[in-house]
Amino acid sequence: MIRDSRNGAGLTSQRMCKCLVRELQDAGIRAPDVLEAIRAVPRHLFVDEALASRAYENTALPIGYGQTISQPFTVARMLECLLRDNPKPGKVLEIGTGCGYQTALLAHLARHVFTVERIDALLRRARERLRRLEISNFSGKYGDGARGWRLNAPYDAIIVSAAASQVPETLLSQLGEGGCLVMPVTEENNRQRLVAMTRGASGYQQETLECVLFVPLLPGAA
Ligand code: SAH
Repeated sequence: MIRDSRNGAGLTSQRMCKCLVRELQDAGIRAPDVLEAIRAVPRHLFVDEALASRAYENTALPIGYGQTISQPFTVARMLECLLRDNPKPGKVLEIGTGCGYQTALLAHLARHVFTVERIDALLRRARERLRRLEISNFSGKYGDGARGWRLNAPYDAIIVSAAASQVPETLLSQLGEGGCLVMPVTEENNRQRLVAMTRGASGYQQETLECVLFVPLLPGAA
């Protein structure tokens, strides 16, 4: 049971958050900055009140409109991989704002987060939550994330929170040299795997990581 009100992280949620961080460490998450961001962001403020008591379980939860807040382990793993070679990125592009939880984590880790969401109502709600937490180093855009956000490119890091059969070329083109893109890619057997692409001076290097489960990257703005 979460005891504190929704405008502050009280003792109960802080304790539950610490347990989650320990669980993530036990599961192999090592990056201190990522663990610190997870400790700092109150995940229960990003889900409906009815689900707040489950916010610190290592599980995905519904956020409305058929979408989910990603499982904490998967978020941590993606962030760890994204920031491995560049722990303090300047500009990060996030595709799939959802409830804004990962945006808040990224805002702790990067100078500025640019986030794109195709469901306007989710984006509005996420913006409101982030402002209430006094997080201001982000910009949100309603639109099709597969097109990225060219205006602010190149990015030091790009993270996509929805699965597609391949990494969109447009997103790769918006990645700066030395930058890393992480996203779930659906294979022919319908399994999804995390893929990390690093842009070098003469091309991209691809690394395939573990299996994951994400909602699909849908075309266009809803
Ligand atoms: N990181 C988010 C994940 C939300 S689920 C969170 O923790 O809440 C993935 C999100 O991607 C959904 O909100 C969905 O609407 C969004 N999405 C799917 N296809 C998209 C697209 N083409 N452009 C932008 N957002 C998209």
